[in-house]
Amino acid sequence: MVKVPKEQRRYCPYCRQHTQHRVKEEKKGSASTLKKGHRRRQGKIDKGYGGFPYEDPAHRTRGQKNPLSKKMPLVLTCAECGKAHIAKKPLRTQHLETV
Ligand SMILES: [Zn+2]
Repeated sequence: MVKVPKEQRRYCPYCRQHTQHRVKEEKKGSASTLKKGHRRRQGKIDKGYGGFPYEDPAHRTRGQKNPLSKKMPLVLTCAECGKAHIAKKPLRTQHLETV
């Protein structure tokens, strides 16, 4: 569990200076089922391709375990101009909490 302060003084690319920012976790919307990547994957699942789809998702990469952590991008909203941007280096963690 990584605790991130809700208010931070960060660089704003629009104001071109450090200002107070509100921090939020990035939430991704559900992927469209009509996109090419989804159609390709669904085709493989329907047809059956080798060992795909993998029976044990914990061992997708052969011989190695999958990392449990994932990249957590932070959405920073500037208090002065009100514009939002995503922090450059996402945190790698399992759980993220804004305090
Ligand atoms: Zn700004």
